[in-house]
Amino acid sequence: MIPDPSHAYETQAVQTGVPRGLGQTVGIPIHAAAGFQFETLEQAQSEFQQNTGLSYARLQNPTVRALEERLTTLEGGAATVALASGQAATLTAILSVCRAGDHVVSSSSLFGGTAGLLNNILPLMGISATLVPNTPEAVRGAMQDNTRLVWAEIIGNPAGDIPDLRGLADVAHAGGALLAVDSTWAGVGFLSRPLEHGADIVTHSLTKWAGGHGSVMGGSVTVGTAHDLSRNPIYTEGGEQSILNVRGEQALAWRQRWFGAHQLGMTLAPHSAFLLAQGLETLALRLTRQSETALSLAQWLGTHPRVGKVGYPGLPGSPWHAQAQQYLRGGFGAVLTFEVEDPATFLSRLQILRIVPNLGDSRTLVVHPWTTTHGRLPEPTRLAAGVTARTIRMSVGLEAVQDLQADIEQALG
Ligand SMILES: *Cc1c(COP(=O)(O)O)cnc(C)c1O
Repeated sequence: MIPDPSHAYETQAVQTGVPRGLGQTVGIPIHAAAGFQFETLEQAQSEFQQNTGLSYARLQNPTVRALEERLTTLEGGAATVALASGQAATLTAILSVCRAGDHVVSSSSLFGGTAGLLNNILPLMGISATLVPNTPEAVRGAMQDNTRLVWAEIIGNPAGDIPDLRGLADVAHAGGALLAVDSTWAGVGFLSRPLEHGADIVTHSLTKWAGGHGSVMGGSVTVGTAHDLSRNPIYTEGGEQSILNVRGEQALAWRQRWFGAHQLGMTLAPHSAFLLAQGLETLALRLTRQSETALSLAQWLGTHPRVGKVGYPGLPGSPWHAQAQQYLRGGFGAVLTFEVEDPATFLSRLQILRIVPNLGDSRTLVVHPWTTTHGRLPEPTRLAAGVTARTIRMSVGLEAVQDLQADIEQALG
């Protein structure tokens, strides 16, 4: 079905990409195929020259394509490439605008895997990064002549910090760079649409709220229409044959598909695409409910005598509350942090909450970031990211709030 931009999120989430007609599946069908047929040599030859349709499933698959259409619609973008993981999406987004000699400025309040790519993997390819606090001023101070990309998370991990997206976009664009936003914690286009606030690229770990049940991995890169590539030599060099000349408005999306899927082979499996598309159908309901539960738990924990600092952008006392009100809608997200005296004892006593290093599940998951997700980062970096030895990160699920509260209460002792 053709997406209708006038429809509400909830309508688009269940209707986009679903075929209509006699005998059609209700829902997105799984195309379990590695290759697709041609009827003539000419068709095959033209497909190999243009790579626009279906030939080989590393490049494209109708199930993955239907998911991509749904993601593009929900994020309010122009094009999406869906990939095997969030990590694949991050790498693809960076490599789409950077090559050896180029530079990235990133917020230091960052998902550990992204920090790993920026600090350890991209330098092997000659791409350097500077990690700075999450403000336009700090980012401006770190910009260099060769900076091609500014990277931020809409809700930082795990501190829940909300960047000034418009400010970051202005700084990036003034320096001839693009702004990429990892919007995983905002759900696909639901709590926020960074493209509407000046971002050029939006990435997701679909493993989290898109899948929504802790059962599948995936990632995506969505681009808008407004990005300016005219100051990036990757796109402009080569005269008549430059990528920008040949691909026009599709240049950025084309390069992302070419890198992430065609060349690096980080392709999403059709069965995973099916589960992710199905997950998106209930994302609005889940994230609304999870945000409500997270807010009420954050309020309760904030008054609990055995609990230290509580971090949640929905609390009026949060340093990020004003920016959260500006950039988030429909809730403040499903993740909060709180400090307990003795994390090991607390975690071992839990009966309902589970110790799992994941997010966005239908079940409530907790981790101790200091020793796990952020354990490999130097201590000052961990502290800068809002992680102390007492911090617990909680991704709120769909259980009843009174049961979660009772479990936390008994575990606090
Ligand atoms: C999980 C996560 C990723 C990485 O995604 P994978 O699907 O695990 O590869 C990237 N960014 C954020 C914010 C995440 O939470």
